[in-house]
Amino acid sequence: MAIRRELKVFINGQFVPERDARISVYDRSFLYGDGVFEGIATFSGRVMFLREHVQRLYASCRYVQITLPVSPDQMEAWIVETARVNELDDQGYIRPLVSRGEGPMGLDQTAAIQKPNIVIIPQLGRSIDYGGQVKCYSAVMSSMRRTPQECLDSRVKANNYLNNVMAQLEASSHRVDVAIMLDTRGFVAEGPGHNIFIVQQKEILTPRPQNVLNGITRQAVLRVAREAGLKVTEADLTLYDLTTADEVFVTNTLSGVAAVTKVGDWIVGDGAPGPETVELRARYVKHALDRGTLIKRT
Ligand code: PMP
Repeated sequence: MAIRRELKVFINGQFVPERDARISVYDRSFLYGDGVFEGIATFSGRVMFLREHVQRLYASCRYVQITLPVSPDQMEAWIVETARVNELDDQGYIRPLVSRGEGPMGLDQTAAIQKPNIVIIPQLGRSIDYGGQVKCYSAVMSSMRRTPQECLDSRVKANNYLNNVMAQLEASSHRVDVAIMLDTRGFVAEGPGHNIFIVQQKEILTPRPQNVLNGITRQAVLRVAREAGLKVTEADLTLYDLTTADEVFVTNTLSGVAAVTKVGDWIVGDGAPGPETVELRARYVKHALDRGTLIKRT
């Protein structure tokens, strides 16, 4: 049996062995989900979309009014260092987390807490779907609605993920991969951890970014689709659009681009990954590798 090597977790400027990686019960992220995070893949000796993830982390912090005491460049360097120290060259995952910090319980204490906890957790052996065949996912329509932006903007990647956790439980109870949430207006939003796209007569459509997490993979796919000369539209999509689409696919950091071949009892297209999905996935993987930040300096 292979012995899993112990990884080192970055906590506030220091690397500590996983078993000693501890945060106080008074941390606001534990008490209230009061913090933000990112999820980053490593593949082929590279950290993927590092700048984009760090930009989104800082945007999330600004939105929830957490002031990071370090520059984005420093944060990028810590993330690459976490990959290097842990030899996360391939099939690795890095989870930077920022919480508001530790302080006495009580919502009224929030503004007084000014020292964020910064944690970067490495993980090995996640399967990053960049090679091989396009994955086929099945989906159901979730009974959970995506939190509307009037309540909490869905573009902030907040540590409070209960909306998504509940939808994911629904997917698991239906034994499918993705539970597709509608927004509160009844338009298609996203999966608990995926953005969603449809293809209709070679046009690529996806929900507007205001109602979903603006995924880094989503943005990259939109870009490569435009570069390929395809018509790309961000729009309010209905259940009708979804179920009559030629192709449906989902995107995220770990899955890259994965086909959705079944939604509830509907078979999408002919039940196999469609040509645009296959093509966009190949273009996305190339784009991601071109942009990747080398972990080991040469
Ligand atoms: N939507 C949600 C709700 C997510 O949690 C994720 C995963 N971060 C995504 C979409 C996809 O985002 P990304 O491409 O940045 O992984």
